[in-house]
Amino acid sequence: MSKITMNLENLGLGNLSGMDIYAKQDRYLSKQSSGSDDDFDNKVAFKEKDFLLDKTIQCPVCGKKFKTKIVNPDIIKYDEPDEDLRPRYKGVDPLKYDAIVCTNCGYAALSMFFNSITSTYSKVIRDSISANFVNTFKDEDTYSYEDAVLRHKLVLLNAVMKRAKDSEKAYTCLKISWLLREQALTVSRSDMGVGTKLYELKKEEIEFMAKAYEGFVNACNSEVFPICGMDKPTCMFMMAQMARMIGKRKESIKLVNDLLKHRSINEKIKSKALDLKKSLEE
Ligand SMILES: [Zn+2]
Repeated sequence: MSKITMNLENLGLGNLSGMDIYAKQDRYLSKQSSGSDDDFDNKVAFKEKDFLLDKTIQCPVCGKKFKTKIVNPDIIKYDEPDEDLRPRYKGVDPLKYDAIVCTNCGYAALSMFFNSITSTYSKVIRDSISANFVNTFKDEDTYSYEDAVLRHKLVLLNAVMKRAKDSEKAYTCLKISWLLREQALTVSRSDMGVGTKLYELKKEEIEFMAKAYEGFVNACNSEVFPICGMDKPTCMFMMAQMARMIGKRKESIKLVNDLLKHRSINEKIKSKALDLKKSLEE
């Protein structure tokens, strides 16, 4: 299996970075725990931190309470998503704040999955992650993309350790890919050659998207929809876009054709799927 770039050394977790995300055997458990709008556009005064709230959460792994940043759902406004349905909002990118990290023990998860952990796997997290975790996260007013990517990579490591469903791991990989896409916009575009920061970020974006695609293929074959809050047609459309972006054109075409025959497809996804089909045939 191809390794992906995790860069978790500064958190004390470098030795766990070369993992197989979708490994079927329960090697971590057996090894670690034997037995155990327009108006809105005109409001120029909004800064990113104005969209954020501090929320106190209790960690299901170590039991301690900690504060995390969340985006105030009452004031954010939708914008047009990217072609692969990466969500966009005006004035803030909530994706950066979707990884909840307990800086006491190193347990981390996407907000929708934060409490999805059993006592058995809490122990696995304590033994494998908390025992080595070094908190280097700073309590800043806002997160940089670099920081958000690191937080999401810690989420991915935790998801592997707690034997999360493939859909949860795939969705985490997709979010990392989306964050890397945005981080790439923050670096100089004057030099795009091999080895430059921009090159590495774009390469990493595709690596994580490929991992996301692999996991969603597994999930489609073994899990019941909705998965990660998505119905099957929406997921199939995203997979078709992912396949196209990672160079799997034939798989993308097959997914779009299957999607267009799906009886539950809504008009919005159908229209996007027809556009994608057209672009794939050009
Ligand atoms: Zn904790």
